[in-house]
Amino acid sequence: MDPLFLKSVPILRKIEEAGFEAYFVGGSVRDYILGRPINDVDIATSATPQEIQALFPKTADVGIDHGTVMAITPSGTYEITTFRTEGGYSDFRRPDSVQFVRSLREDLQRRDFTINAMAMDTAGNIIDHFNGKRDLAEQRIITVGNPHERFHEDALRMMRALRFVSQLGFELDDDTFHSLQVNGPIISKIAVERILVEFEKLLAGTNKKRAMALLLESELYQYLPQLSNKKDHLMNVLNLPLDQLEMIEIWSVIMVQTKEEEMEATLRAWKLPLKTIRNVQRIVQLIKQEPSFEKSAFEVFQAGHDMTVQASKVKASLTGGDVPEAEESAHQHYKALKIKAMSELAVTGTDLVNWRQEKPGPWIKASLEMVVKAVLDEQVSNDKEEIKRWLESCNPS
Ligand code: ATP
Ligand code: MG
Repeated sequence: MDPLFLKSVPILRKIEEAGFEAYFVGGSVRDYILGRPINDVDIATSATPQEIQALFPKTADVGIDHGTVMAITPSGTYEITTFRTEGGYSDFRRPDSVQFVRSLREDLQRRDFTINAMAMDTAGNIIDHFNGKRDLAEQRIITVGNPHERFHEDALRMMRALRFVSQLGFELDDDTFHSLQVNGPIISKIAVERILVEFEKLLAGTNKKRAMALLLESELYQYLPQLSNKKDHLMNVLNLPLDQLEMIEIWSVIMVQTKEEEMEATLRAWKLPLKTIRNVQRIVQLIKQEPSFEKSAFEVFQAGHDMTVQASKVKASLTGGDVPEAEESAHQHYKALKIKAMSELAVTGTDLVNWRQEKPGPWIKASLEMVVKAVLDEQVSNDKEEIKRWLESCNPS
């Protein structure tokens, strides 16, 4: 058994000794069977949240309405969730109510895909009521029960299906895919924040190309924020070396053809953090610059290390260049800069004021910038006296 499971076994035993059932469930069981690294271990139990609270001296209510209690123990913290079924999905998203139940089977039945609907006991026995093991072996994403019903209960599951295609390299079952094709519009009922989580997991998965192709083929993309007019571009994006790009770089690739104002609106519609929005805007702006921004030491200086590297990678990926090579060369470009920040300049605004005997004003910034450019272009070395002489030669009085 994986060390993460072994560490949690005493917790499950403690629950069992109190007369309840406890199992490992969900993603950890799936990843364990697949031999993939396990991130976090989810524990499900027949005990109610109150019964769990009574068992562990120290707990935190992380999602008690949904039945999750966090047990804080000397060996670590564990999320323990009461078996539950979900009732009434009047709006294609989270259930109107959850009922706590004592049956593991019912809890597994409400889970999204067969591969996510298995449990494991402390002895390592797998409980598999819905053919999860078969579907893992056959590398298939298939809903527990009728896909149409399951997507109507919670439309986010359509995005989850594609993110598992991307993460696991599995295929969608035919019925599940057809259901995704007809149910695209209901994804708009889901909070964008939740869609974003799944979309970014899709974009980070090793099989993102296939998952993106299915997103386009199923037409689901049309109902994601502001993507409906980008089919041709997204088709091209599919064929770029996305595996070599970080998330922000992928967003830049997606946005590269979008006009400035629309880009802001699109990224905001996706509820991306403002910092990410600004960075994507800047990357796109840099790569569109003519002549190429990397040719100017001052542009590289202004962009900073990370932005220079990111923009160079994005540009290489769009133009069929070698991405790792572009990354290395951007890194070297930056490294070669004579100064990396204004504060490294050998002169300050005060020096300029003293030398020119002029009242401080906007001219200081302009002058400093001129000096920075000269230093970066190696017209003058970063030395106080030399800069002074150079300035005098520029403004002979
Ligand atoms: P990851 O490794 O990315 O965490 P995961 O399978 O653990 O993958 P989670 O989002 O953490 O995914 O969800 C944990 C489990 O809860 C899933 O394996 C699944 O059984 C269930 N689940 C999560 N979201 C849904 C949903 N929208 N509908 C039904 N079941 C869900
Ligand atoms: Mg998980």
